[in-house]
Amino acid sequence: MGFFNKIKDKVSSVTSSAKNAITTAVEKSTEVFKFTKLKEGLTKTRTSFVDKIQTALGVGRKVDQALLDEIEEILITADIGVDTTDKIITALKERVRAEKRDKGEEVFEIIREEIEKLLIMSPSAKNDATYSVNPDSIPHVIMVIGVNGVGKTTTIGKLAFNYRQAGHNVIIGAADTFRAAANEQLEIWAERAGVPIIQQKTGADPAAVTFDTLNSAKAKNADVVIIDTAGRLHNKGNLMAELEKMSRVMKKVVPDAPQDVFLVLDATTGQNAIQQAKEFLKVANITGIVLTKLDGTAKGGVVIPIACELQIPVRYIGVGEKIDDLQPFLPKDFVEALFGKEQVAASNYDEDFESDDTTSED
Ligand code: GDP
Ligand code: GDP
Ligand code: MG
Repeated sequence: MGFFNKIKDKVSSVTSSAKNAITTAVEKSTEVFKFTKLKEGLTKTRTSFVDKIQTALGVGRKVDQALLDEIEEILITADIGVDTTDKIITALKERVRAEKRDKGEEVFEIIREEIEKLLIMSPSAKNDATYSVNPDSIPHVIMVIGVNGVGKTTTIGKLAFNYRQAGHNVIIGAADTFRAAANEQLEIWAERAGVPIIQQKTGADPAAVTFDTLNSAKAKNADVVIIDTAGRLHNKGNLMAELEKMSRVMKKVVPDAPQDVFLVLDATTGQNAIQQAKEFLKVANITGIVLTKLDGTAKGGVVIPIACELQIPVRYIGVGEKIDDLQPFLPKDFVEALFGKEQVAASNYDEDFESDDTTSED
């Protein structure tokens, strides 16, 4: 008896440590894969901004006003915006002087550090990354808002998929009742994510769909509810009234709801995304930003003013059109992916540039 139990224990401990090792390896390779994906996605942004700064610094120049002006122009053209660029340049000037670091690679490092400082990490980043919800406030209701075409429906599909992968029961509510195609699109995403969807006819009251969805969520003991909305901003008064009505109706069923209001912004619209955010901030209690389409755009620098000017954390970023192309926003990873260590090549930076007058101008 004792002998067999010992063997059994031994076997099960070996099995579980093997399982753990496999899980860790899979997690690790998923992380590496995601990081590579982010890095690839940011290629154009890197070219439009990081590479240009390196080129400007790379000819062994001392920091002077002309160089600062050049860097300033690069930052502004890379959709970082005037205010945020000002902050970076001011800090750069100050640190170059105070720390007596004015060599090209030192200045590059300071810019990188200052940008990382501006990208404040959301206090909820850990929960966001693991798709955890507060068990004392269930169902966790996420309302998703933003103008047409920014990627709300796609993001909802991705979120639903990830929450489900994390073991939660998820329900989607199709409260974008304005456009005829909205229901079908959301239905496709719900199917891909493997989660139920609650919908009514086009033109139905979005608040009524919301009410149905939350009741259904309660009946089915759902952990997470994600509500799609129509992206109309042409009439601010109406939008505000509609969002308020949806919130009010939700609270009849789930008093804490909505625990999250995600504003979706499209990175490819650059500075326009900031304008949209400012408008939406007037009509909704936004708890987080999802920045989509960071893959393949040269305007990815816009994440910097979004993270530092709006005072709302970037919670997730979209890096593609597929269901697993959503990533939690982690400033350190983002800067790492954007600045790419091997791009910096700090060790032989001088050799690369000092004796090389033919360094390309662009
Ligand atoms: P909505 O009108 O806000 O609901 O936007 P949709 O979710 O319908 O998305 C509009 C378009 O953007 C679709 O063609 C999506 O495939 C695309 N899209 C959404 N998110 C991303 C992303 O992260 N990367 C890329 N490349 N395309 C995206
Ligand atoms: P109203 O449209 O101005 O009357 O706004 P309400 O806040 O009363 O509700 C908006 C929608 O949500 C309604 O049209 C209903 O479909 C739904 N709703 C809200 N509260 C209730 C309720 O207590 N019972 C039911 N069945 N539906 C409700
Ligand atoms: Mg949509």
